[in-house]
Amino acid sequence: PRLANQIAAGEVVERPASVLKELLENALDAGADQIDVEVEAGGVKLLRVRDNGSGIQEGDLPLALARHATSKIATLDDLEGVASLGFRGEALASISSVSRLELLTSTDASGKGWRVVAEGREMQPQVTPAPHPQGTSLVVRDLFFNTPARRKFLRTERTEFSHLEEVFRRLALSRQDVAFSLRHQGKQIHQLPAVESKEAPEQVSRRIGQLLGRDFLEQSLTIDAVASGISLKGWVGLPVYARAQADRQYFFVNGRVVRDRLVAHAIRQAYQDVLYSGRHPVFVLWLDVDPNIVDVNVHPTKHEVRFRDGRWVHDFIFSSLHKRLGAALL
Ligand code: ADP
Ligand code: MG
Repeated sequence: PRLANQIAAGEVVERPASVLKELLENALDAGADQIDVEVEAGGVKLLRVRDNGSGIQEGDLPLALARHATSKIATLDDLEGVASLGFRGEALASISSVSRLELLTSTDASGKGWRVVAEGREMQPQVTPAPHPQGTSLVVRDLFFNTPARRKFLRTERTEFSHLEEVFRRLALSRQDVAFSLRHQGKQIHQLPAVESKEAPEQVSRRIGQLLGRDFLEQSLTIDAVASGISLKGWVGLPVYARAQADRQYFFVNGRVVRDRLVAHAIRQAYQDVLYSGRHPVFVLWLDVDPNIVDVNVHPTKHEVRFRDGRWVHDFIFSSLHKRLGAALL
């Protein structure tokens, strides 16, 4: 069973960034509005995520680390309407099979809580009392300490950290109502207060500036296009701010991060039509569509989207950007 766990772990746990993604999604699923991340040595030595969410009841703790144990769906029917980010009950079991994992949690403000440690799945998780504020801390140490082959595939600490930061950036962009912080080697990298309301544009643009850089805000155009049942808002970088690679492209459909060819095509077309540029524009765009008009089916883990009327969505994105770029640049 140990080997099976470690093989399965490869699917979830590829590198520190994949651990962070699972831990952040769990914290968000638990309703946290403050999430603090601490990293050492690109996440290989230490990855700590502390949230102020619901916490885990003492009786549920052994189960939280068990394979295929999830509190998020009770029956197969629930899979249909799954709203939470994680639902497979795989992540904690997989992570603990390839690391030294410590979990601290409390379900109330009494200060009393519980601690569970698991290491490489060899020992039974032990639950002992330990103080903790309401919420959960997950501490993952020495990732891949028992799987040297996998450890060999890791890149430099710097590269691993840049993958971690990208995961952090994506989630911090998609959940602006949540306060986040990120420290690496004791140094504060990001400190993001929660955006209180989407109707507070200066708060939203402050977060964008904090995550993508002030110069991005200065060298981009704001997009604000609305038609019946659909709207597109956000920022697109000017050509001077374009990049050689298609990183730094963030597209949200009804609040979820999406990578979609149809969307990418519409944006690229608009760029090429107005100004020939082979470089990749930087953008952060929120597309909101009325689910009654457009069938949005976002895969909960794969970030895929399916529009019933793809052509219409494509043309809306294309023409919104085309108009705005054309007006600003010609
Ligand atoms: P999944 O998220 O797919 O349910 P995980 O292995 O990621 O599976 O987590 C297992 C269970 O542990 C979750 O269903 C949840 O009940 C609990 N859990 C994990 N992380 C947290 C957290 N930060 N706060 C509260 N509960 C958590
Ligand atoms: Mg999960």
